[in-house]
Amino acid sequence: MKALVTGAAGFIGSTLTDRLLSQGADVVGIDCFTDYYPRALKERNLAAARQSPRFRFVEDDLLGTDLDALLDGVTHIFHLAAQAGVRKSWGRDFGVYVHNNIAVSQRLLEACAGRPLDRFVYASTSSVYGDDAPIPMREDQRLQPLSPYGVSKLAAEHLGHLYHVNHGLPFVALRYFTVYGPRQRPDMGFHRFLTAAMDGRPLTRYGDGEQTRDFTFVADAVTGTVAAGTRGVPGRVYNLGGGARVTVNDVFAMIGRLVGEPIAIDQQPPQKGDMRDTYADTSRAATDLGFAPSVTLEQGLAEEYAWLRSERA
Ligand code: NAD
Repeated sequence: MKALVTGAAGFIGSTLTDRLLSQGADVVGIDCFTDYYPRALKERNLAAARQSPRFRFVEDDLLGTDLDALLDGVTHIFHLAAQAGVRKSWGRDFGVYVHNNIAVSQRLLEACAGRPLDRFVYASTSSVYGDDAPIPMREDQRLQPLSPYGVSKLAAEHLGHLYHVNHGLPFVALRYFTVYGPRQRPDMGFHRFLTAAMDGRPLTRYGDGEQTRDFTFVADAVTGTVAAGTRGVPGRVYNLGGGARVTVNDVFAMIGRLVGEPIAIDQQPPQKGDMRDTYADTSRAATDLGFAPSVTLEQGLAEEYAWLRSERA
């Protein structure tokens, strides 16, 4: 396998890159180090991969880079580059989401049309569902994103489907449900909560804390992603979730037990664009990809906490 991983310096992209290298693949990674969070963190994510002679890294924006050169000899594409984050996607910042999530995806898909690829795997999100979807969420439900971010990610999912139908591109989309673990982005909930708890600061809670999430440990998300690259049925979409539905209040209680201190809460109003609940029906991924989450939330949180502490040491 010669894989192209886009967003290779990011949280999930770098973890996927390390996994592919450990399995003997050749990997080309591309990332332009967007300023959404510090470059230094992304450089750390890449450090292990850079040691491998089978890894080649290209620092460039996918919207301008020479795609013919990038795609030379590539058999599998894992397209994870994106502007993440629900809350920032309103207003002026939407242009960044159009650029990195829609225009980049269209350009990459167009460049792949007619190439003999084994798979093109696209990282989509549970944010495409919105609040109308019954729980647990199934891939064939009506999609009504609640945020501009969700709309931008769904647009690229639809584009991928078009290239599958019209150009035979072996496109597979994965809807990740809140991924966490070592290297998690600093804007994400667990990273912020665990850091605040370590520092003895209050944890910010939006709304009543009874909203639920399906949290997916990064190693499980990566296992499902690699499986999609070999076993995913072209044209299909798969949910990848952690298998447990937990409230934010439950998470705060777990964090309190982990750090061994009572947790103080900084109460804030609910945020526009945040979904009330997410919970994945992963039966399709189980059947086609052999997907089975293996890490419990307690174990995964403890791993993320250990990683954050080691980063400080
Ligand atoms: P991340 O921000 O850590 O990684 C994305 C990377 O893409 C960044 O390093 C960024 O610099 C790079 N990038 C963005 N635009 C680019 C461009 N135009 N050219 C080159 N590189 C570019 O995010 P993540 O959490 O690792 O998410 C990875 C993917 O998974 C994204 O597509 C995201 O939408 C999706 N996703 C993530 C989660 C989650 O819980 N983390 C949930 C659902 C979906």
